[in-house]
Amino acid sequence: MLSQLLNIRSKISHILLPPACVLCGANAREHLICPACEDDLPWHDKAQCPVCALPTGTGEVCGHCLVSPPAFDATRALLAYQFPVSAVLQCYKYAGFLAIAHMMAELFARRLGDVAMPDVIVPMPLHATRLKERGFNQAVEIGRILARRLNIPFESAHAKRTRYTATQAGLALKERHRNVRGVFAFDARIAGKKIVLLDDIMTTGASLNALALAAKKAGAARVECWVMARTLPL
Ligand SMILES: [Zn+2]
Ligand SMILES: [Zn+2]
Repeated sequence: MLSQLLNIRSKISHILLPPACVLCGANAREHLICPACEDDLPWHDKAQCPVCALPTGTGEVCGHCLVSPPAFDATRALLAYQFPVSAVLQCYKYAGFLAIAHMMAELFARRLGDVAMPDVIVPMPLHATRLKERGFNQAVEIGRILARRLNIPFESAHAKRTRYTATQAGLALKERHRNVRGVFAFDARIAGKKIVLLDDIMTTGASLNALALAAKKAGAARVECWVMARTLPL
């Protein structure tokens, strides 16, 4: 109900506000960003590990994924998590500027290229308490729009958080893994399916790894992470 109200609010602001670029104020046509600012975004399109999307010299699998492979099979990250992407995504997540979800989904779909489509997109679940605090799930809003755009089923009820966890921000890598271990449960209806786990930002990948592990335990045939932005080493 709340997310429906927020969506209505977003649609109304679309109608009332001129389509100005969120970054420079120029005419942005329908997707909140003008062509010049879109060109200047930090696209994550350089050679990278196909499993975790961290940069590698020639696109080979990185040492970390070779030594301890994550539970997911591949990662696709649209942008590098740096300014101005960080500011845009924070505005979306914490100020509830829901039109950003449309912009991200559209940019992601346009840059996806000719890839094998999954059977279903499942967003990173939020715990009910966190959902109540924030009012919406940032992964659900982007995922729903992207799935509709790509004509892929979208199932936000397939994954659940079974307990409330501290926010991952500020935790060291080991603590992040410990914090989310065993926290997700997946519906058995994904057995045998190729699924995409959708999230806004991938930092260390600890949450997505724990979610992918739950998906594999429930019998998913293949698990890919699709994220709007990836934190990259400096
Ligand atoms: Zn602009
Ligand atoms: Zn890797």
